[in-house]
Amino acid sequence: MNFQPDICTFKDPVGYGAFDIGHDREHLQFVQLAAAMTPAIVLPAYDFLNILNSGRTQKNQLESHQEAHELLSNIAGITSVDFTQFDLSKQDDFYNFLGYHQTTHQQLRQFFGIV
Ligand SMILES: [Zn+2]
Repeated sequence: MNFQPDICTFKDPVGYGAFDIGHDREHLQFVQLAAAMTPAIVLPAYDFLNILNSGRTQKNQLESHQEAHELLSNIAGITSVDFTQFDLSKQDDFYNFLGYHQTTHQQLRQFFGIV
């Protein structure tokens, strides 16, 4: 199952919810695929069900999401931006975050062979 939609509209709570569900699923899938590698790589299983819709806990959520992406980037041998640098309450930052994050997830899917 693919992370779809991996973008959404600024300040659209329904879109945020759909993004959060697909995104959380894909991170769990990455954890499972890393565990199935030889040698197995054990990643912490995070709960990312509320990234865009997280309200006051968003900063913490974004920080643990960033930690997960740093581990994944190391495994996949890719570089990605620091996703915590974006202020998701600002429209420009929001769309930049989505764009960079979309590219990173595409690269990770490619690495893990998710088509
Ligand atoms: Zn992510």
